[in-house]
Amino acid sequence: MDSNSKYILRTKDLKAYYVLDDLGKKKTVKAVDNVNLNIRKNEIYGIAGESGCGKTSLMKTLYAFIKPPLRLMDGQVLYYRDGEEFDIYSLSKEERRKLRWEYIAYIPQGAMSIFNPVIKIEDTYRDFLNSHLSGKTKDEIFEIAREHIKQLGLPMKVLNSYPHQLSGGMRQRVAIALAALLKPAVIFADEPTTALDVVVQRGVVQLLKDIQKGLENTIILVTHDMGIHANITDRLVIMYAGKIIEEAETVEIFENPIHPYTKYLINSLPRFGDRGTRASAPGNPPSLANLPSGCAFHPRCPFKMDICEEKIPELSEQGNEHMVACWLTSEGVG
Ligand code: SF4
Repeated sequence: MDSNSKYILRTKDLKAYYVLDDLGKKKTVKAVDNVNLNIRKNEIYGIAGESGCGKTSLMKTLYAFIKPPLRLMDGQVLYYRDGEEFDIYSLSKEERRKLRWEYIAYIPQGAMSIFNPVIKIEDTYRDFLNSHLSGKTKDEIFEIAREHIKQLGLPMKVLNSYPHQLSGGMRQRVAIALAALLKPAVIFADEPTTALDVVVQRGVVQLLKDIQKGLENTIILVTHDMGIHANITDRLVIMYAGKIIEEAETVEIFENPIHPYTKYLINSLPRFGDRGTRASAPGNPPSLANLPSGCAFHPRCPFKMDICEEKIPELSEQGNEHMVACWLTSEGVG
């Protein structure tokens, strides 16, 4: 890797499976199956797909935040820092702990787990800063917290509140603000807008955009909501059954979706002025513990061919840095 790499995070043949004990029999759930990503500096990178397709497991694996029964089975997660590339799984626990929040930050689903429910937000800031920046006085820490809240356009009164006194949307914005506090190079956000109404969602999306623009860092955003991806991400991957099935610039994916599953995801979005129901993909995603043969989408696909049931299609480039895994594409069929 050259010293001016445009990438901040790459994965090579990444596999992370849940290994479960089912009445004495080992059961394997392929949550992340042979995933190769090249995520750039200074971009918002989206990971999309229905619930249960492996998005959150992939995010946890990238953040090296996996606990049994989820296990890293194979592959590498390579971060780039100070001209060097390193595999996060080759670091000791202590080295990984030091990276967290300062270099890579993670906003979990629901965000409540970031907070201690019995202390005020200003004390959460204090604990957070004390554990990462030593030698600051109480006043200096409070000043950093005030300045940070002000810069991000959040009301100052949140500092004097307990987490349960904040609305869901405000709590989510404070969680995002905390994740950005130490100016990490990469921020992971897992379904940050779920369960929020549309107006509040807009505030959360704008905050993520402002943070990315201000820090010129990389945000990796997981959500099933294609409307949010259209609004905020620069590039997008679509996951299905633990695999990447399409990747391109977000504009390219929305203007020229190729994989039948991606087309369903886009077609199911509501259109302005359209009161009819939109077509979503027929059926449900398969169980990751019992995947169909060949292309895992074949039981739901109206274009299924014989080969689709027999062989798994590989990702192939379709021009415009647009990658697709489908036998319908000429390279797939050829
Ligand atoms: Fe459909 Fe076959 Fe393409 Fe899978 S590989 S999406 S089954 S056409």
